[in-house]
Amino acid sequence: MIPFLDLKTPYFELKQELDDAIARVVSSGWFIGGEEVDQFEVEYASYCGAAHAIGVANGLDALHLALRAMDVGAGDEVIVPSNTYIATWLAVTQCGAIPVPVEPDERTFNINPALLEAAITPRTKVILPVHLYGQPADLDHVLLIARKHGLRVLEDGAQAHGARYKGERLGAHGDAVAWSFYPGKNLGAMGDGGAVTTNDTQLADRLRVLRNYGSRVKYVNEMQGYNSRLDPLQAAILRVKLAHLDKWNERRKLAAAQYLKDLIGSGVVLPYVPDWADPVWHLFVVRCAKRDALHQRLAASGVSTLIHYPIPPHRQEAYADAGWQVNEFPLANQMADEVLSLPMGPHLSENQRQQVVVSLRANVTADD
Ligand SMILES: *Cc1c(COP(=O)(O)O)cnc(C)c1O
Repeated sequence: MIPFLDLKTPYFELKQELDDAIARVVSSGWFIGGEEVDQFEVEYASYCGAAHAIGVANGLDALHLALRAMDVGAGDEVIVPSNTYIATWLAVTQCGAIPVPVEPDERTFNINPALLEAAITPRTKVILPVHLYGQPADLDHVLLIARKHGLRVLEDGAQAHGARYKGERLGAHGDAVAWSFYPGKNLGAMGDGGAVTTNDTQLADRLRVLRNYGSRVKYVNEMQGYNSRLDPLQAAILRVKLAHLDKWNERRKLAAAQYLKDLIGSGVVLPYVPDWADPVWHLFVVRCAKRDALHQRLAASGVSTLIHYPIPPHRQEAYADAGWQVNEFPLANQMADEVLSLPMGPHLSENQRQQVVVSLRANVTADD
């Protein structure tokens, strides 16, 4: 069986370095905040080309706390993609605010800037583009519209560590970028983790207070904050893995380039990369009208594929009370019906990748 993503081999590739980092934290007796978290924040901010990185407990909290730090609250509207992981929407509703979905550009899967202005109302506060599947959203267009209307931009970078927009790494194009270090992400911890990067010193300061019970000085609480801290053990692990991120992203890019070459004419719609985008291929997503059959046939032939995501947020039971109609976002629905993520990762071997190609070619055209 070819795994969708191998989470064991990364450890063995970096075993000595990771074991040393873990032992360093365990033997320090320092388990909340401290040097490892501070150092990771410095290193990750520098990697992203941002002035500040603020570690938090996970990617959802990174989004939620960043919105809180931007003063998003009850009745405010936040523009989100109609096709994203539900965390993007949950961060908005956790603030008491309203997600206003905008459909994607069908070729890139990312939010369509041409549809943004029609979604803006006097209550809109933030535009929240997602760099879905590791490909940067069209930030210049988003930022232009945001500036024109006095809105802030929070980017969901959970799938795009190291990706570049027009040559520049993601991290500080908008007002802030929220990151997840969930184990399966391009920069993954060995548990949960997250961060926000920003060039806005005031926003960074608010985030540092918000993540720590609303407190700057112990037992003095200036706001009703949260307990959402990046674990020093995870920070130490992330410091090791950050040093290898570019190399691992390069392996993903190589695998993606080969998929793109080998799957021409295979009958599936291949990912489209605009010339200004330098994606990091968190996922390699193809489209196929008979997706479910292909998914099953591939599984039967020993190739694990996944669907990101099978139910768009507006059709989740979690939002049943919000009043969105099933057919309100046809592109989100179509993506949910057609997308299929092929095995991808820094430890996918050439041999495995070729097997995926052979298997996909054999199964996509097979009769039902
Ligand atoms: C993974 C992910 C998140 C949430 O990250 P967690 O660390 O799991 O909370 C948010 N947005 C997107 C697009 C993601 O892929």
